[in-house]
Amino acid sequence: MLSIADVSKTYPNGVQALRGVSLEVGTGLFGLLGPNGAGKSTLMRTLATLQEPDSGQIVLDGADVLADPQGLRRRLGYLPQEFGVYPGISAEALLDHLALLKGIADRRERAAQVDALLRRTNLHEHRRRAVEGFSGGMRRRFGIAQALLGDPRLVIVDEPSAGLDPEERHRLHDLLVEAGESRIVLLSTHIVEDVRQLCTRMAVLSGGRILLEGKPGPLVESLAGRVYRKVVTREELAACRTSLTVLSTQLRAGRTHVQVLADARPDDGFEPVAPDLEDVYFTALRSGEAA
Ligand code: ADP
Repeated sequence: MLSIADVSKTYPNGVQALRGVSLEVGTGLFGLLGPNGAGKSTLMRTLATLQEPDSGQIVLDGADVLADPQGLRRRLGYLPQEFGVYPGISAEALLDHLALLKGIADRRERAAQVDALLRRTNLHEHRRRAVEGFSGGMRRRFGIAQALLGDPRLVIVDEPSAGLDPEERHRLHDLLVEAGESRIVLLSTHIVEDVRQLCTRMAVLSGGRILLEGKPGPLVESLAGRVYRKVVTREELAACRTSLTVLSTQLRAGRTHVQVLADARPDDGFEPVAPDLEDVYFTALRSGEAA
């Protein structure tokens, strides 16, 4: 179990990136959803012990992470948003090097892990190629391979599917699901679909605060009967924004569909719709704006 209690961080420029974040995360895939600037990367870097919070506590399986960051690093796999690679080095050699840095000193043990992870991420046939020349999807898979070195208890993945095509996204998702079978996998993303497809639990972070936490299914059910949709003109949309809680707008075939949250049907033009996770996400964000 990963317990995050009241973690806060203000950058020297005055930006309050985390404001009393508390979360309990168990084995499985946990999705941390939030818009750009929400504080997701700050939280991920803090959990990865790459930076320190101003206050708060982080405990992994009973061990105080902030008191013993080195201990955490041995049980951590981290795939950052920007994954730098050394020019010219093959996937196999780089993975071996990273395994060594991770403390896997035995050469044979290292070779075995490198081989197994290259196969698992479907990169074995490309093992002699430089990671530098890999496509975005291959790089991400390599990133997962290096994150799984040393069989970590906690895996942190920051914006994993950014910029991937659908097929690569699918492959990456499969790897993450597999990783989450026996580990705590924390996934930060601004893509609602990722969370819907992958995560058994989720939280919405915005403005450095956790606005909502729970299981995707029940969270969606909690909005049943409260989401309405209407096709509107630009003027009507402006009116909606002042009088109703607009969750989202979507352009479909040149017409604007507006989706609102309301306890009763706003007017005749609105049709009730079955809520989805996107509605959950936007409901949380609106509640954060109102607070
Ligand atoms: P996210 O990953 O959700 O996009 P970040 O954690 O990157 O959010 O950023 C949260 C806020 O903190 C943003 O306002 C961002 O501009 C600011 N921020 C992030 N890193 C730094 C930094 N090193 N110095 C100052 N401000 C930062």
